[in-house]
Amino acid sequence: NNNILEVRDLKVSFRTYAGEVQAVRGVSFDLKKGEVLAIVGESGCGKSVTAQTIMRLIPSPPSVIKNGSIKFDGKTEITRISNKAMEKIRGSEMGMIFQDPMTSLNPTMTVGKQITEGIIKHQKVSREEANKRALEILKLVGMSNPEGRMQQYPHEFSGGMRQRVMIAIALACNPKLLIADEPTTALDVTIQAQIIELMKKLSEKTEASIIVITHDLGVVAEMAQRVIVMYAGKVVEQGTVDEIFYESKHPYTWGLLRSVPRLDQKKDSELVPIPGTPPDLFAPPKGCAFAARCPYAMGVCGQIDPEHTKLSDTHSAACWLLHEGAPKVERPVEAGG
Ligand code: SF4
Ligand code: MG
Repeated sequence: NNNILEVRDLKVSFRTYAGEVQAVRGVSFDLKKGEVLAIVGESGCGKSVTAQTIMRLIPSPPSVIKNGSIKFDGKTEITRISNKAMEKIRGSEMGMIFQDPMTSLNPTMTVGKQITEGIIKHQKVSREEANKRALEILKLVGMSNPEGRMQQYPHEFSGGMRQRVMIAIALACNPKLLIADEPTTALDVTIQAQIIELMKKLSEKTEASIIVITHDLGVVAEMAQRVIVMYAGKVVEQGTVDEIFYESKHPYTWGLLRSVPRLDQKKDSELVPIPGTPPDLFAPPKGCAFAARCPYAMGVCGQIDPEHTKLSDTHSAACWLLHEGAPKVERPVEAGG
């Protein structure tokens, strides 16, 4: 088995006072060993919830895994193992990088200690050995003067340097899977490019599989091999980076490509926001969830949710336009796109 992760028909809900929010509504995908997969979509599409469920980082309750399976490394069923077993996997076999490193670093502990603690806890090595490994990793993430940096506290680091520390902590235990949720969103543009460059380098150097969650298609183009597009808790299209950027078939993907900036795009190309807002996930619509915002919606769209149509071994999309007899619609040509 060449997959580090196999997610099948995952459904996750949140109980709130107002009712149940169906945040993830039947998500399935595979992640190959060593692969970098991007999950993209507007905020609230379920991409972060999917990632946090894989790492079991959302408290249950209020979140409930309603259905589905998450198989890790060919054997572990993440939806069913104990909290204790999960804790062991986090920090040794899985690592996570968040948008804001300050919230996940301990402000009262030196950075050196925060990196070595994890190594000692999960790899059962001596403090000396852990120190050596921490220094190597800080060098790997591009930190100059790692010996001095080890003695410092998080507030003594800039935002970009803190994100490097987070990446170092995540990598310290040689994880098989790394999940990065909006890893560059909180950073300045120039620092963003450096962190993307670093993550790209690391994905080539280490054997870790990476899931990067982002609304930034520049990050996708730079780092990922494959892309999953999510809308209203479902996967609406998936494919290789080229298939998504150049041969996408779902009107939502088209809208997304026009509405968010890309690093590889001309500066003056126009960004067109997708009109309207995503549906209420307290009561998801019965047909295609994008119908209310879709310029191509037909009668059937509001009635029945379309299944995925296979377009290649790697590419599929869920849209009635791909079914026989539907009107022929081409992706609109955009200036500078
Ligand atoms: Fe638009 Fe219909 Fe396709 Fe949904 S199924 S994206 S509403 S054309
Ligand atoms: Mg998010």
